[in-house]
Amino acid sequence: MSGLYVEGNWNSYAVYRKEVRVSKFHPDESRALDCMDRMNKEERSRDRNCMCCRTVFRSEGNHNRLCNGCRTRNFDPAFLSGSAVVI
Ligand SMILES: [Zn+2]
Repeated sequence: MSGLYVEGNWNSYAVYRKEVRVSKFHPDESRALDCMDRMNKEERSRDRNCMCCRTVFRSEGNHNRLCNGCRTRNFDPAFLSGSAVVI
């Protein structure tokens, strides 16, 4: 896991990692948790080469190996009918 956690008192909550604050202070815990979710997502996402066309794109994680263009193309009728070439 990312090691992020939320800590705070009655009116200021923030995201921490190893006791170092890594977000700004939030007035309530739910906002701090939202912030942590976003940071976790950011961390998992990275630039990858598309498995299909080698374009560099922003991947959301290991499951996400095709750029948006190729992902959309997968739903193309030509692809589904088998006339498109899969590398
Ligand atoms: Zn692609």
